[in-house]
Amino acid sequence: MDYKYQAIVLGKYDIAETDRMYVLYTKEAGKIRLVAHGVRKPQAKLAGNLETMSHAEVFVARARGKGKITGVIPVDFFVSAKGGIDFLEKIFWTLNIFDRLVTQEEKDEKIFELLLGYLRAIDGLAEEETAKADIFTYGFIFKLFHLLGYGLEMGRCVACNATLRSGENFFESERGGTVCNACAAHVGKKVKITDETIKFIRIFLENRIENLGKIKADKKNLSNLKLVAHEAIKWIAG
Ligand SMILES: [Zn+2]
Repeated sequence: MDYKYQAIVLGKYDIAETDRMYVLYTKEAGKIRLVAHGVRKPQAKLAGNLETMSHAEVFVARARGKGKITGVIPVDFFVSAKGGIDFLEKIFWTLNIFDRLVTQEEKDEKIFELLLGYLRAIDGLAEEETAKADIFTYGFIFKLFHLLGYGLEMGRCVACNATLRSGENFFESERGGTVCNACAAHVGKKVKITDETIKFIRIFLENRIENLGKIKADKKNLSNLKLVAHEAIKWIAG
């Protein structure tokens, strides 16, 4: 049987002499692994259309559950990213987190659209728009957490359940949520969370990824957002 997938390349690794295994996130089946035979031979054209982060239509022949790639039509390479190596590093970091968090072969079109929306958003930025690249990257991460069912508490204290007041609050990675100032002394590992970070995360969850470029953020705000995002990643991805 032949199948066609809308796919985004998450990664790849060499197997056997001239073969390669591709890790794809597909619209039709979620995350899948497929082999491409002879792809590392000098005359093979397929590999150029399956670079990491590319969007492509992938044709697959399946026999006894195993799939092999028989053809590829490129859709977008996302290499026009004007931010150069900085933006590429962000995208590769994001794809790596995505690959760690999304473990099941399970169809989820919302996750596929989120990933595609993220790549398009970064691709459309100008070189100096590094703050926007960060907003898209962390916006993507928090939206992904949400779609995967990791609800981060951002309105109440996870220790005493009180509604948070603005000012001195903390994020506790073990319970994945905010902790009020009064409880902060009695909980485990925590980092400061600013009112701006709480606001950013709420905006991320309420808006489409392509609209997050309107958010204005300075370096100081972004550094706290990054700190909290990294704590949340530790909580979820271990
Ligand atoms: Zn509390």
